[in-house]
Formats: sequence, C-alpha cells, structure tokens
Amino acid sequence: MFKVKGKPVCEGIALGKTTVFRKNCQQVNLCRVQDSEEELNRLSTATAKTKEQIRNLYDKAAAEVGEAGASVFEVHQMMLEDDGYLKAISDMICKEKVSAEFAAAVTRDNYVEMFADMDDEYMKARAADVKDISNRLIRNLTGQEEIDFSSMEPSVLIMDSLTPSEMMRMDRDKILAVVTVHGSGNSHAAILAAMLNIPAVICPAADLGGIHNGMKAVVDGYSGEVIFNPTEAVMKETENRIREQKEKALVLQNLKGKENVTLDGKHINIYANIGSVSDVEDALQNDAGGIGLFRSEFLYLGRDNCPTEEEQFLAYKQVVQAMAGKKVVIRTLDIGADKQPDYLRLEKEENPAMGYRAIRICLKETEIFKTQLRALFRAAVFGNLSVMYPMITSVGEVRRIYEIAEDVKSELEEQGISYKIPEQGIMIETPAAVMISDELAELVDFFSIGTNDLIQYTLAVDRQNGRLYDFYNPHHKAILRMIQMVVDNAHKAGKWTGICGELGADTELTEIFVKMGVEELSVAPSMILKLRKIVREMHADE
Ligand code: PEP
Ligand code: MG
Repeated sequence: MFKVKGKPVCEGIALGKTTVFRKNCQQVNLCRVQDSEEELNRLSTATAKTKEQIRNLYDKAAAEVGEAGASVFEVHQMMLEDDGYLKAISDMICKEKVSAEFAAAVTRDNYVEMFADMDDEYMKARAADVKDISNRLIRNLTGQEEIDFSSMEPSVLIMDSLTPSEMMRMDRDKILAVVTVHGSGNSHAAILAAMLNIPAVICPAADLGGIHNGMKAVVDGYSGEVIFNPTEAVMKETENRIREQKEKALVLQNLKGKENVTLDGKHINIYANIGSVSDVEDALQNDAGGIGLFRSEFLYLGRDNCPTEEEQFLAYKQVVQAMAGKKVVIRTLDIGADKQPDYLRLEKEENPAMGYRAIRICLKETEIFKTQLRALFRAAVFGNLSVMYPMITSVGEVRRIYEIAEDVKSELEEQGISYKIPEQGIMIETPAAVMISDELAELVDFFSIGTNDLIQYTLAVDRQNGRLYDFYNPHHKAILRMIQMVVDNAHKAGKWTGICGELGADTELTEIFVKMGVEELSVAPSMILKLRKIVREMHADE
C-alpha cells in the first residue's frame, strides 16, 4: 500500500481499479517500406476499424444529442467512403513505397489545404473534418489509440490532464473518480466533474509515475489523499465511508418536493448548472427549481464544427420542454481560455483568460452569435427561457448585444419564423461589471454572479494554475463585498441576482448569501438538496 497526498478538487469517496491514460503526441515520420502489399492490407484493416468507431460515435451522439447533432459523424463516414481520398493514400504507398501512416498524413495535409483554400464557407469548414478523420485513421494504423472511454470498466481514471472536450466524450457512469497531474479546482473539467458528482484529486506527476492499469485505489475527494494497493482494513473502512455517504444522500432525498424557505419565511431559488441536454435528468432528479446556468459552449466542444442553428434550437427546446415551465437560463457561447474548439482556429494567446473569449468573440464574429440568438429566440417559444451574456465589462457591450438581438428579431420577423424575446441578463464576473453594476442594472433583467472568473480577476489568481491553489481564497473580503454591492445595485433597479459560480455551492456561505439578499443559487445538481437543508434550518433576518 502507498499513499499520495494531492489537492482535493471535487468531494466524494471512491474505491476501484485504476485505468491509466497517458496522452501521446501523434507524430508521423517518413518511413520507406519494401512490401507495399502489406501496407495496403494495414490500410484496409485500419479503415474498417475507423468506420466502426465512427458508427459507434454516431450512435452515441444520436442518443445523447439527437440525430442532428450526430450528423457530423455522417460526414466523416462519407469521407472514408470517398474513393479519391483512399486512392490517394494507396497510390502513394505503391508509387513512393512509404508506410500507410505516412501516406495518410501527407494525404491529410493535401486535402486540408485544398479545403481550406475553397471560397465556399461550408467546404472550407470540411478541412477540420478531413483532419479529424485522417488523424483517427493514423491512430488506428500506429496503434496510438485515442483514449477510448467507452470500452473501459468502471474505474478510477489516472490522467496527465483532462480537457472539457475529453470530459464530454466520457461515459459518465464508468468514472468512479478522476486523478490528474495537471489542472485546478476551477478549471472547466473540474467543474464538469462536480456537476457529475465525481470525486477528483490533483496529484504531482512524480507520485503517479509507477501507477499502472488495474491497481486498486481509494480516492478521497475531501482530503485529497489517494491510496494505491490499499490493505484489507483500508478497503473495509472506505466501504463504510461510501456507505455512510450514501445514507446521508438518502436522508437528503426526504427534502425532495419541499420548498427552499427559511424558518422566517424567506424563499430562495435553488437551480442547477448544466452543460448538456442530458444533464437535465440529473437536475430534475435532484429537484432543481430551474436551470440557472446552461453552459451552451459545451454544445460546441467535442466536435469538428459549430453546431447549426437547427441543432442548437433542438437542444434548447428539449431543455426548456423537459423543465416544463421552470426557468432555464441559457448562457451564450463562452468559448476561449480553457475551452478551445480546434475548428475555430483561435490564435494562441499569452493570457487567454484575459483574451479573446466569450462575448468578445460573439461581438466580433457576429454570424456565430446571430445563429445562436436565432436558436435561442426560437426555443423561447417553448418554455420559460432566459438568455444570459458572459464576460461583460461595459454598458457599450450590452447596448451592442441588444442591437444584434434587434437584427435577429427583425430577420425572424421577416422570415415569418415564430420566436419570443426572452428575459435577458448578464453575468457579473469581471470587477468592471461589479463597479458599474448600478448602470448595468438599469439595462438588463437580471444579474448572475460568475464567482469563478470574478475571483480570478479580482485576486489576480489564474483559475487554471494548480500552483496558485494556496492563493485562491474564495472567501476573501473583497469578493464578499463585491457580491453585496451587486445585489444592492440590482435591488435598487428592481432586478434579481443569482450566483452561478462554484461559490454558490459553498455550504459555509449559504446563510450569508441568503442574508445578503441573493435571490438564486445555481449549483451542481448534487448540491441542491444540501443547500435546501441549510436554507430550511436558518433564519434570514437574524
Ligand atoms: C464563472 O465564471 O463563475 C462562471 C459560472 O462561468 P465559467 O465557470 O463557465 O467561466
Ligand atoms: Mg465565467
């Protein structure tokens, strides 16, 4: 048995076998071969395997996000059936006597260049598809398999790092816990883990070097301790702790259907944060009063192109309909920083958190923004939908957003498409927005405080940097004063304020937030009943 002390990221205890994923970089070197026939056979086997993987991905995507969302994999399938593409690879193998992977890499680069040079925007976007499908083929040829989460047993995942895109590809039921070398508690991968109620710990690389597949591990997401090859006694103790956890969760179940009301009669909305359509089930199971933050950008990740208006419309509509009249706050695209879809080709930046992200991208690349607004306004017809804009720093940005929204409205009107202008609010997640929250409150319908970014910008602590763990103080007086200021300014203008950052789920602060006058707390579904218990046992007016 040996123990590793890491940093706790998501609460919970897990016991299970390890599955280790070490990321490899995909390099293809020129390799001459004698036997072209053998290379052609390898190509044919790898092509068949790639096709099967694509079929499986299509089925998974269709089940999770619907047929429209899965259509990207149809495009991949078509490419693999395109004679020209496969012929180019086999011709090169035969004529130049090179390995199949080298021929596939060269063909990939030629095709990518050809598509990227096309005038038609749709064809241009196919460059990313060729790249993706070719890389998959190369991985199958070289044996550098893509991390295949689907075929894994329920496991404790050991990884160098975890991106939000990878998280989106995972089969959530199979992850008992996540242990990574890199990352921080405020990265989006960690937030996703919290939403899925998965215990997570970050451990130093040196301590995880000798870990291999199939070892038993205990992960303590409260203390950050990870124990490998635990003794019988430790396993027994862990099983008892897991049982206790389940019992506590069961007691909380009794609170389902009850109101979030303090002993002196003050009501508070406790909503759920979600990242995908399928998370709604979790929100409903935990008795969420609504959705306070749907991070719509996750619809844009783990795929090769922007979701179309129709795909987005269907996803938003599905969520509002499932919530049956309960409020659903959908945040517009907050891409950039640690959420990078390759196909947008965002430039590498020195300071991505303070760079080209979120509303800044939307205000520059208005077509992407308009497509999303059209989908949102159309879906608003089907339920209680609110739209929320991220990373606001000025009144001018809000005015510009309204101008674009007005254009979208006129277009829908002209086209005779039914729509509804929803309630529109903003995230307060920059110190600038806090300081002008009096002016902003006059313009918008509500505020939702994004404490993850607000803390990083106020304390100048990069939320992605695990080394700054000791400097990240979410209870800093500056943060609490800012929250009070925002709530007061909202109230003066007759508007409501919520908190949708991770601090909203901090049970040490629940009473304080209620007393401050915060009207809504939007948290990971697993936290809803815990907060309800606190609210029901407190006095708001003490
Ligand atoms: C936040 O910043 O607190 C927030 C909710 O947004 P995100 O974590 O997605 O940046
Ligand atoms: Mg944010």
